[in-house]
Amino acid sequence: MKPIQLDGISGGGQMLRTALSLAMVTGQPFRMTNIRGKRSRPGLMRQHLTCVKAACEISGGTADGAEIGSTELVFRAGKIRGGSYEFAIGTAGSTTLLFQTLLPALWTADQPSTLRLEGGTHNPLAPPFDFIERVFLHSLAKLGPRAEVSLESAGFAPAGGGVFHATVHPCEKLLPFELMTRAEEGKSRIRVLYRHLPLAIAGRMLDAALEVLPCKDAAVESREPGAGMGICCLVESDFGEAREMTSTFGEKGRTAEQIGHHAAKSMNNYLGAGVPIGRHLADQLLLPMALAGEGRFATMSLDQHVPTNVSVIEKFLDVKFDIREEERGRKVVEVVRR
Ligand code: ATP
Repeated sequence: MKPIQLDGISGGGQMLRTALSLAMVTGQPFRMTNIRGKRSRPGLMRQHLTCVKAACEISGGTADGAEIGSTELVFRAGKIRGGSYEFAIGTAGSTTLLFQTLLPALWTADQPSTLRLEGGTHNPLAPPFDFIERVFLHSLAKLGPRAEVSLESAGFAPAGGGVFHATVHPCEKLLPFELMTRAEEGKSRIRVLYRHLPLAIAGRMLDAALEVLPCKDAAVESREPGAGMGICCLVESDFGEAREMTSTFGEKGRTAEQIGHHAAKSMNNYLGAGVPIGRHLADQLLLPMALAGEGRFATMSLDQHVPTNVSVIEKFLDVKFDIREEERGRKVVEVVRR
């Protein structure tokens, strides 16, 4: 079979991960050029390479160009095998993004699979473990696929070393996803996770978040033991079917108060938008929804990944996306069979 041609110049790692997932599920090979072409360090980094190698292992596939720094890759999947797998990224690269890459292939397998993933579990610019557990898998279950996840130890960047376990169940048929509204009443919850830092810093971060979004369910939670220091503020709002979690990570040059404020303000943006699906979840639901062949949801202003993700998905699957703007910034994302 001739590989599908993909130009990675306008995308990041997400474009590659979407292509890997789809190549495994559909059996169609792809060639991607200019991988992460506009990034300061283009090509495959350790976390992307681990996704490629893991995809080869679970699908009996082959990859040409699977090297650090490579900007071109040809990937061909074979037959997906459910089973027990362990993958270590070797850096603080995100295990949650690796999990999302492998998940669609594993739910098409004919037996349950278990994964042990080692690396970062709480990274800026990736879904934190808690987002996967509480938000992503919660929405995905509406389409049919079920997975249980547990955290053995948190891995904060730059040390990494976190361990994340997952069990993925086979899912024979995907259901169309539809979520256009959100319940009136929701519950919010704020948590500050921290390691190797004084409790007082976590407390200041929590107070700052509570100043912006007052709520009763709020706590600081130590993530000892483990390598390296780290801190993040996670804000969740649960409306039943609709759920969202915003997260902001501690970084040099930003005070605890700034981090807490930022996480809570991001949640206030979601709450104010009145939509069911948050910005990152919207991006992450495109692929499963397209595999189901139809679905739609209402969301807020879109993440920059959406256009590149859509372009990859439309090359592999016989579907068409329609994204339209409604009043007050509300967006409706719809996918139909072509
Ligand atoms: P690159 O280095 O090329 O940018 P990458 O592999 O680090 O690539 P991206 O391509 O930026 O990653 O993809 C990151 C993914 O993480 C996207 O799917 C995005 O929606 C998701 N994401 C980022 N931040 C969050 C967050 N705070 N909560 C949930 N999901 C997030």
